[in-house]
Parts: sequence; C-alpha cells; structure tokens
Amino acid sequence: MSWEKAVRTGTLPEWPYPLRYGEEKELETDVLVLGGGIAGCWAAISAAKKGLRVAILEKGATIASGSGGAGCDHWVYVANPCSDITPEEMVDAEITSTGGYTNCISRYISSREAYDALVELEEMGGKVRDTEDEFKGAEFRDEKTKFCFAYDYQNKLHFRVWGSTFKPALYKACKKLGVEIYDRTMATSLLTEGGKHGSRVIGATGLNIRTGEFVIVRAKATVLCLSRPQRVWQFSTELTGMSTLRPQTCIGNGHAMAWRAGAELTQMEKSTRSLMGSGLNFPMYGTGNPFNTWYACSMVDADGKEIPWVDRDGNVLKGVSDRYRPAPGQRFLGERSINYNYRRPTLVPDLLERVQKGEFRLPLYADLPGMPEMERRVIFGMMVGEEGKTKIPILKTYRDAGFDPDKDLLQSYMMLGGEEMGKKARMQRPGLPQQRTFGEGGDAGGLLIDWDLKTTLDGLYAAGDQLFAGNYHHHAAATGRYAGRKAAEYALVAGVTSVERQQVEEEKARVYAPVKRQDGIDWKELNAGLCRVMQTYCSEQKTEDLLNLGLLSLKEIEENDVSMAYAADPHKLGRVLDVLDLLTCDQIIINACLARKASSQHLDFYRLDYPQLDPPQWQKWITVRLEGEEVKTRMLSIDFWGKLKENYEARNRDYEGWYKG
Ligand SMILES: Cc1cc2nc3c(=O)[nH]c(=O)nc-3n(C[C@H](O)[C@H](O)[C@H](O)COP(=O)(O)OP(=O)(O)OC[C@H]3O[C@@H](n4cnc5c(N)ncnc54)[C@H](O)[C@@H]3O)c2cc1C
Repeated sequence: MSWEKAVRTGTLPEWPYPLRYGEEKELETDVLVLGGGIAGCWAAISAAKKGLRVAILEKGATIASGSGGAGCDHWVYVANPCSDITPEEMVDAEITSTGGYTNCISRYISSREAYDALVELEEMGGKVRDTEDEFKGAEFRDEKTKFCFAYDYQNKLHFRVWGSTFKPALYKACKKLGVEIYDRTMATSLLTEGGKHGSRVIGATGLNIRTGEFVIVRAKATVLCLSRPQRVWQFSTELTGMSTLRPQTCIGNGHAMAWRAGAELTQMEKSTRSLMGSGLNFPMYGTGNPFNTWYACSMVDADGKEIPWVDRDGNVLKGVSDRYRPAPGQRFLGERSINYNYRRPTLVPDLLERVQKGEFRLPLYADLPGMPEMERRVIFGMMVGEEGKTKIPILKTYRDAGFDPDKDLLQSYMMLGGEEMGKKARMQRPGLPQQRTFGEGGDAGGLLIDWDLKTTLDGLYAAGDQLFAGNYHHHAAATGRYAGRKAAEYALVAGVTSVERQQVEEEKARVYAPVKRQDGIDWKELNAGLCRVMQTYCSEQKTEDLLNLGLLSLKEIEENDVSMAYAADPHKLGRVLDVLDLLTCDQIIINACLARKASSQHLDFYRLDYPQLDPPQWQKWITVRLEGEEVKTRMLSIDFWGKLKENYEARNRDYEGWYKG
C-alpha cells in the first residue's frame, strides 16, 4: 500500500517494536568491536581466538552488513605461494601510484597477512577456489591450487574470489566463537577514562535503532571498524541512479566519535570529483565496460568494429590473453594503477578522438560473445555476481530479462562517464567541480594509527576503511584480523574501568534530543543543507576565505538548525544522528583543507591561494585533532612509518604466517 493511501484510509502502520527511549542496557566485555562489517568480524574472530570476551555493535545485520556484505570479486595485492612478488614490491606499487599518499602500515600488513586470512576464511566456509572445476583449464586458474587470478595471469597476485560467501561464513565463525553480536545497534560515542577528552577509551555507547534503547558498554579495548563518511557533497534518495557506493550505514559515525574523543585523523582534505554520489550514476558493473570486474572485456562500436587494446607502451595487443600479461620489461600489473610501472593494458587512449573522427560509431558495447568462453563466463557469471551489489540487481535481473552473454552485447555508457572504475580511460570527466565524493570509493581520510593499528588514544584500535588511506576487502580482513590480535594483547593486561556517569548523561541528552520534538527539520533536509555548504565553500577550487565561510555556515547550522532536527521513531533517530555526525565530519574536512596550504594533484586538492602543485615542503601528511574546543594540526613526514619489513617483524615475532620473508 502507498503511504498516501495509508494516510487516506487511516491505516498508518504502528511502529513494530516496543519503544524504550532512555532505558539502559549495560554490557561488559574484554574487546569491543564497533561495526560488524569485514574488518569488524575479523577483529572479533581474532580477539575471540585469544580466549577473550568479545562483543560487536552493528548498525545493520552483521550476517550481511557493510560494503563487503553483498560480495567481493577481487582479493588484490596479496603475497601468496603462487606468486614471487613480495609484499615490499606490492606496497611500492601503491606508493608510486599515489605519490606516497598511501597507508604503508596497513598496506604492508595486508600484503603480508591477507593470504593467511584467505586460507582461514576458506576453513570458515568461504569459497576462495574453483573447487567445482568450473574453470578447469582456464588460463587464469592455477591447476594445482585451483585458485583463480585476475588482471595479471603471469604474476598471480590478485585473486578472483566468491565474495558473496564471505560474510555468512564470518558471521557463523563469530557465533561459534561466542562473540556477542548486537545488531541494529548504532554506536554513538566513545567513553573515556574519567570522562576526559583525549584519555584512554574504555568502551562506547550505542542506540538500538528499533527500540530506541540506550546501550552502555565497558571494555578493556575497543576496535573501530565503522568505515568512513559518504554523502558529504551529494545526496539524493529521489534520483534513480546510485547515490552511494558503500552502504548508507557507512556515514562517518566512527570518524565523528573518534574526533569528539580527541583522536587524530589524517588525509581528511582529500576528495574527488565524481558522479558516484550524485544519484546519476549507472548501476555499478551493470553497463558494458572493460574495467575492474569486467576487465578485460572486448569492446565494439555500433557496427561491431572492435576497439584495439594497447599495453603501457602503446603497442597494440593482438590476442585477449595479452591483456592479462605485463608488457616486455614490466614487473607486474597493478589492480587499478595508472602509474607507468604497473599500468594494465587499456583500450586505445585516443578513443574519443577516433570516435570524433568517425572511426568508431556510437554507442559502444561490451562484446561478451566475442570473448573466449572461459573469460566470458568468469566475467558474466562469476565476477558480475560475486562483486558487491551485482548478484541480484545485475546478474539475476539481466538473466531473468533474457540477457544471454553467449549472444548479447551490453551497451556502454563510457561516453557519459558512466563507468566510474575506468576513471582514466573514460572519455568525459564526469560531474561538476562541486560533485565530489569523500569515502564513497577509493582511499579516503581516516584514523591515524601506529604499527599496532592503535590510534592516538590509548585503548582504541582501528581497521579497514576507517583507517587513513584504507581501502579494499583483503585490507579490511587483514587489518581487522591484526587489530583484533593487538587489541586482545592490550586487553589481556588492561583493566575494565568504571564509566563516568556525567559522560553518559551528556550523550543521552544529545542522542534523544531529536525525539523530544514533535516536529522540525528531517534528516534528509539537514543532509541536503550540509551538502550545499560543502558544495559552495569546499568545492574543487578552495581558498582560505571560502573555507572559513564554510566553517561559519556549518556553525550556523549547528547552532540554529540542529536544535530543530526531529525524529519520529528510532530508525529516523539513527538517521538524524548520522547527519549530525556528518556535520562533524564536514568540520574535520574543512579544518584539514585549511591546514594544507598548497595544492596537490595526488590528493585532488586545489587551493587558488596556494596554486603550486605538490611543492616538496608540503609532501607531508596533515593531521587534525580536537583538543578541548580547539583544532590542532601537525605535519607528519610522508614516510613516518619507517622501514616496513623491520617494523612489522619486530612487532609480530610470534605470528605464524605463510610468508617467511
Ligand atoms: C559494491 C562494492 C564492491 C566492492 N568490491 C570490492 C572488491 O571486489 N574487492 C575489494 O578489495 N574491495 C571491494 N570493495 C570494498 C570493500 O568492500 C571494503 O573496502 C571493505 O568491505 C571495508 O570493510 P570495513 O569493515 O572497513 O567496512 P564495511 O565492510 O563497510 O563495514 C562497516 C560496518 O560498520 C557498520 N556501521 C557503520 N556505522 C556504524 C555505527 N555507528 N554503529 C555500528 N555499526 C556501524 C556498517 O553497517 C558496516 O557493517 C567493494 C565495495 C563495495 C561497496
């Protein structure tokens, strides 16, 4: 029934759960994991394996929640027995590709340990090999191990995996190990020793977004696995396209609560012009393209004429197989790197000019029928299916509608910038300067951590997409697993501390304010207002004046509009709290932008008042943190992590991993 009809006929549904606003549930645990996504489940599993009590607070339903809940088709940059590429080389590739702005601590941990995680995942029930021999004899399959690889068939460092099996397997493992899972429970704040800002983290508060009950958890150690902000510049639930890549539950609650507690964050000034958050984007992986999940699908024009592929040196490749092999003299192919050293073969780079000259006629199509059988089946069947958000929306829907990859071409929207993954290969830079994304895709700003994945607050660890410059499923798995281990080691010697009642009361007052009102501004309107501020004052071209005006506008919203934010039920209360955290994230972002007084191509960061691109004195990390009411910033050397292998090994002498160095 439509909402209008329900209003007309007086049959509006009642809220289906008991309302328990203000009531408290108190819990105590050794390791508290905030967020039951990929990193969170792995952190919980590894801490529980140390024999500790572990609890997860998850806003959604842990069995399927988070960015990796719907699947994952690539497990990339992983040292493994089928490859001779070392973790150091893999991290080097990421350093080179990002101008140094990558998280070498977490990337190194991932490259070293993600193979161990993959094998452990298989023991839990995740499918990581072609056990049914579906692809027997395929060029991308290692016959001995039955592992399948993507992108670089020679060097075998990027796995093809059946990621839709992962989250249920992780969930089951958590349950088996006795991890206490509190679903539909949104973490709202971190509790600190003595209630003091900047002191040891001793647990967290949460809100049940079905009943409105308030949850207080005391813990010896806490692991933040709450992903990162989205919807900062763009948000629409009305447009028909995709409005965020990651799930809407990932909105930056973790960044905001860590900030309020006094933790240090970095890379927060980075944002990217992109249609991904606009609601105009095409469904991911649902259009004909040769990128990412669809790599390296043949493309043809409207007359069926094939578009040539070239290697990094511009040599035209003759066969499909050559698209999956390094060029002469090239060590290996990166996952998405556009750096010369690691660049994968691409369609001819002057495709747009060739279309304009009439050599190719639009529209273009992905030519699955023209691909060798195994390649066709692994793209449309396995990869489109196992990749998140594709199994039902794309694979099933298209098949049910009669799409047959053996016969049918799939239209491409590359000309409209419709395929985000092909960033450098697409033919039109999409979007307006203010159509930006923060955490929707790729690396993003986040928590600063040390070699234990400990944040700058004692007792608080972080993993996955919540880390600065964090990204990828294997990375979330490996860092979650690692952070859980380290948090457990900490918890084994730390005590449980009593909670400062005043801190709880203040948080309860903040959390419940929107339900005390009968009417007011709803969460979508507030989100739209915040986006407008960011579009106007923190767009592509930034200046000191604009950014300061942005802070002023946010302050005005904080002082005037927040006190009018209204929620009719616990679910909407969660949404309002999300947007309030988004406001905090906006403030962090603008403060970070003010602190970087130089432009940077690598960070997609342009200051009109400091136009010089990447001057050497600014090749540094800018960190931001709150001290009382004041924002403190500092610079960190671009390679503050020191020597990778040495630092890692010094802290993990007892770790029994596959890789021996
Ligand atoms: C469609 C899609 C396809 C992808 N494909 C790949 C791929 O093939 N290969 C690859 O390497 N990477 C892929 N990624 C990226 C990968 O999924 C993520 O990097 C990874 O899942 C990050 O794990 P995480 O645990 O940090 O975050 P998530 O898995 O997103 O988990 C965060 C969890 O925190 C919960 N949460 C948020 N706020 C709160 C709160 N306040 N309280 C309680 N819980 C909260 C969320 O509900 C969520 O469950 C893909 C991502 C998407 C969206």
